[in-house]
Amino acid sequence: ESVKKKQSLVERDRQNVWHHISPYSEKNPPMIVEEGIGSWITDHQGNRYLDGMSGLYCVNVGYGREELAQAAYEQLKKMAYVPMTQSHEPAIELAEKVNELLGGDYVIFYSNSGSDANEVAFKMARQYHQQNGETTRHKVISRYRAYHGSSMGALSATGQALRKYKYEPLSAGFLHVAPPDNYRKPEGMSIEEYNIQRARDMEETIIWEQEETIAAVIMEPLITGGGVLIPHPVYVEKVQEICKRHGVLLIIDEVICGFGRTGKAFGHQHYQVKPDLVTMAKGLTSAYLPLSITAVRKDIYDAFKDSEENSHFRHVNTFGGNPASCALALKNIEILEKENLFDRSAEVGDRLLNELAELQNLDFVGDVRGLGMIVGIEIVEDKQTKKPASKERVGKLIAACKNNGLIIGKNGDTVAGYNNILALSPPLSSTDDDIDFII
Ligand code: PLP
Repeated sequence: ESVKKKQSLVERDRQNVWHHISPYSEKNPPMIVEEGIGSWITDHQGNRYLDGMSGLYCVNVGYGREELAQAAYEQLKKMAYVPMTQSHEPAIELAEKVNELLGGDYVIFYSNSGSDANEVAFKMARQYHQQNGETTRHKVISRYRAYHGSSMGALSATGQALRKYKYEPLSAGFLHVAPPDNYRKPEGMSIEEYNIQRARDMEETIIWEQEETIAAVIMEPLITGGGVLIPHPVYVEKVQEICKRHGVLLIIDEVICGFGRTGKAFGHQHYQVKPDLVTMAKGLTSAYLPLSITAVRKDIYDAFKDSEENSHFRHVNTFGGNPASCALALKNIEILEKENLFDRSAEVGDRLLNELAELQNLDFVGDVRGLGMIVGIEIVEDKQTKKPASKERVGKLIAACKNNGLIIGKNGDTVAGYNNILALSPPLSSTDDDIDFII
């Protein structure tokens, strides 16, 4: 009977569930997942897989952590809901903790998802400039290949055309510049020179657009979902310098990079920068419950306190800062710290990268790159021309991994032909045996 019930799950899914991105496919039916422990998940037919993607780059402490379930349970019993027009102890404690991880000087605004956190950042940036009398500063500069979310504003900031073109017109005032892609830098230029050039391109855009119209720049510490593009530190540091020079706020999107993914608490901590706003989600709760944060520098927050009219940031969301999510996030951070998972991410990530670098001996692997527990493997048709491999070829590699019990991801932007980067982003808690298995 249970076999029958399980078979019918597939049919009921086909009839009733609209999956994200891909429609139901007979040839490749979706996996119905039942259970997870550590880095491993089990589907409804009992097949086990190592989840080399931590879900969507988010289950940082791995699956099946009873302490997290317990933290949410205790809080739900005690007090299930408080709107964030008021406050509660887990929200206060979590704000203090996240601020400490950021090195101080921030206040914390709660929402539910990474997209939400970015929407909040855009609205704050615009209102901040208005309240400073710079009423024409409304544009946001982002980068091609970046992903910043699926709601209209966050999608506008996203620099991947395929995700956008059927939903136009999106929000006005979002511009894009090219990010550094060090694998494809021009011949005869050092990586550092090329990265400085890319930062200068951004500055030129600010100047040509007229700096008085630019509110903010948004970027990830490294482009994750758009192809694991890791900048030279000079790029990020120059971007901050440029933002300061032109009165533009710097928003760092830590939705994937935050909470240890790159081997530090936050990805931007690899560089000498102090962002004006920092957005985070995913690893904040290891995705056990929804929660996101827009962290805002106190000097920006102060501009929202100076008068009756200015004190209102007219943004509410019902579920933001849910007490159980906050209690769970605190426990999640406690685990990350107790188990030293930021450092482990750096160490194990190095090993993963070094051992996978051997793949470059294959004639279809152009580049293997990574930082902490995120790795990108660029698949090409031809190593000389660096022509991206076809969708079919990349799909075959992903299917082959799955057939061998390993789930990996695919990154990039199809429109530009760069949908050819295999991604790995296993839980930070992965054991040495798990890493051996991946390798
Ligand atoms: N920003 C980045 C860098 C992301 O990778 C994502 C999601 O993958 C988002 C924002 C959007 O987050 P969410 O899916 O929680 O809205």
